[in-house]
Amino acid sequence: VKEEGKNNFQFFTSEMNELIARKSKIAMSIRKGLELNEFSVHYQPQFDLETEKIIGVEALVRWHHAKLGTISPAEFIPIAEESGMILRIGEFVLRTACQQTKDWQDAGVEPFRVAVNISARQFSQGNIAEVITLALDDAGLAPEFLELELTESIIQGATSAISKMQQLKAMGIHLSIDDFGTGYSSLSYLKLFPIDTLKIDQHFTRNILIDSKDAALVDTIIQMARNLGLNVIAEGVETLEQLTFLKARRCNQAQGYYFQKPLLPEKIEELYLKVKTR
Ligand code: C2E
Ligand code: CA
Ligand code: CA
Ligand code: CA
Repeated sequence: VKEEGKNNFQFFTSEMNELIARKSKIAMSIRKGLELNEFSVHYQPQFDLETEKIIGVEALVRWHHAKLGTISPAEFIPIAEESGMILRIGEFVLRTACQQTKDWQDAGVEPFRVAVNISARQFSQGNIAEVITLALDDAGLAPEFLELELTESIIQGATSAISKMQQLKAMGIHLSIDDFGTGYSSLSYLKLFPIDTLKIDQHFTRNILIDSKDAALVDTIIQMARNLGLNVIAEGVETLEQLTFLKARRCNQAQGYYFQKPLLPEKIEELYLKVKTR
């Protein structure tokens, strides 16, 4: 028994060591990966549920590492947040997304917004408004075509968050709260912050037909958003049944595999090119 316990312990530590080694390997290769163009951006369409038209795309970063292969953002984003490299990745995604959206517009795609995820650390850097202004200017993209997806942690964080948001809002940029309802912030921020859209987290969407409590929460979030005059978008919509539920509750926007997965920019252009009339 003693022997077995010892082996278990060794097994456990070697697995831990592997995880730590992978994590530090990832942390160390982000900078190089950016230099080598290993990062790219995919785009997932977002739809208005009344008109069924595309209203935007969410920019989602992708990393194909030369040795480790494809690494999920769910794995490397938290590591990049810890190391500070999120600032570099974030700026890459922001610039790529703005430029791509302008290129689509120039190519004759019907104009829609691009939503870029902004991590708390990125938002709390001093000059976020400046970084965004420069990215828009360099791309030649009008600010109303940019949306920033912020999480509730941003709101809890700095007192400067509200003035930064007001500044961005005054520029014409749209602001949404990502993963709404998964943080622990008080709802009163909805009154104080200049927010346009609430994004219902995919964990709620996934369970609406399985768990009546999740269904009740989703229903409540939609009604609250409507009462506050905000847009509400459900993410992670995978089935017609989920979509039907959301439409019946008058959710006004949706995104998910039921419509489209995150796509390469060429695919977006192909799908949403305006029909040319003469
Ligand atoms: P998120 O912002 O909540 O993004 C939604 C995630 O759900 C994406 O995963 C997307 O591909 C996935 N998804 C979309 N529709 C469906 C669906 O119908 N079913 C399921 N099961 N999943 C769906 P992804 O691309 O792996 O990104 C994971 C997370 O990594 C994102 O969650 C976001 O927190 C972070 N992330 C991705 N790109 C960026 C970025 O450029 N900057 C920052 N700061 N974070 C990013
Ligand atoms: Ca997001
Ligand atoms: Ca989300
Ligand atoms: Ca999420």
